[in-house]
Amino acid sequence: MPFSAASEKDSKAIGLLKTLVGFDTTSYNSNLGLIEFIQSYLSSYDIDSTLIHDESGKKANLYATIGRTDIGGVMLSGHTDVVPVASQDWGTDPFSLIESDGKFYGRGSADMKGFIALVLSRVPEMVSSELTKPIHLAFSYDEEIGCVGVQRMLDLLEHQHIKPSCCIIGEPTGMEVVIGHKGKHATRVKVRGHACHSGQSPLGVNAIDFASELIVYIRKLAHEKAQNGPFDKDYEVPYTTLHTGVIGGGTALNIVPNSCQFDFEIRHLYEEDPQHLLDQIENFARDHLENEMHLIDSDTGFNFETLATYPGLLTDPGIEFVAYVKGLLDNNAHSKVIFGSEGGLFQKRLGIPTLVCGPGNIDQAHKANEYISLEQLKKGGNFLDHLLESLVLS
Ligand SMILES: [Zn+2]
Repeated sequence: MPFSAASEKDSKAIGLLKTLVGFDTTSYNSNLGLIEFIQSYLSSYDIDSTLIHDESGKKANLYATIGRTDIGGVMLSGHTDVVPVASQDWGTDPFSLIESDGKFYGRGSADMKGFIALVLSRVPEMVSSELTKPIHLAFSYDEEIGCVGVQRMLDLLEHQHIKPSCCIIGEPTGMEVVIGHKGKHATRVKVRGHACHSGQSPLGVNAIDFASELIVYIRKLAHEKAQNGPFDKDYEVPYTTLHTGVIGGGTALNIVPNSCQFDFEIRHLYEEDPQHLLDQIENFARDHLENEMHLIDSDTGFNFETLATYPGLLTDPGIEFVAYVKGLLDNNAHSKVIFGSEGGLFQKRLGIPTLVCGPGNIDQAHKANEYISLEQLKKGGNFLDHLLESLVLS
């Protein structure tokens, strides 16, 4: 479908998406260029926004309210960072939006600058309408590394007298209503061994061997979860999972390694507390493995560091907010998804009913040649138009 098939509003959204994709906001970079662009775009419509910076001052969340400030309203939320393109085989420049055959290619086009562009494209109408309830914009940084940046925005919102009354996170769900996702806890384990010549290996403490024993134990717990549950059949994988994803250690084959490091994660059902599993893993390391290691050297052992953690999301499908959003979409279906979002934090820390619903497909996210289709942009735009209509006095 050529560019010309887009309506005026679609074209505005596509223009904004082109600008947003042009900022390389890979999580390890600053997002300030993009945030300052949004801030000045909003201020051109007389909307004040608050920036909430990180410790380094190189990244920021943006929060803005359009309309009255004496009651809660609908929060539209998205993250501004994207995943890296390194070692991905892209056919085009990932940081310039390229249209081909009704698809718009670029890093973040689906996850989730497409949604942010659509929201911004509707700002002129939000401003000129007499809104009965306000619309809040909440754009975060460092979501892709474990919902890290949004925490500072939550600190601010927590102390506000009037909070948003509901939240829509525009992660790519193909514009389907998502009421739930699992929580995640990511941990780094550092193993301190005792080096010696490999010819004397019984006199050393092999950090790789002991790391491996703990990894096998984590795998055993994963099998137990798969066997015994609890289960939630709404998920493709209906139970809590554990998995080790990164490992490194040792320097040479003829040296017993004195260090090994690995990262593992737990993706847990909403109702399950990951702390119980973490305790089991740490206890196994302390009570079984370290006891054995200390027979050689008492300075050896395990160190555990939390890399990222966020809660699961579960919104009661029976509440009015869910029916309201389904009505706007004219689609009564809802589901749960395999990926996480900031939604669990909005729900758990602020008590705000939250749904995930946005344009694009998660299958295209995080991969080479990520794209969003014009059809999805149109669907997302229609949804925002209906949302806006519902907030205006008729
Ligand atoms: Zn995302």
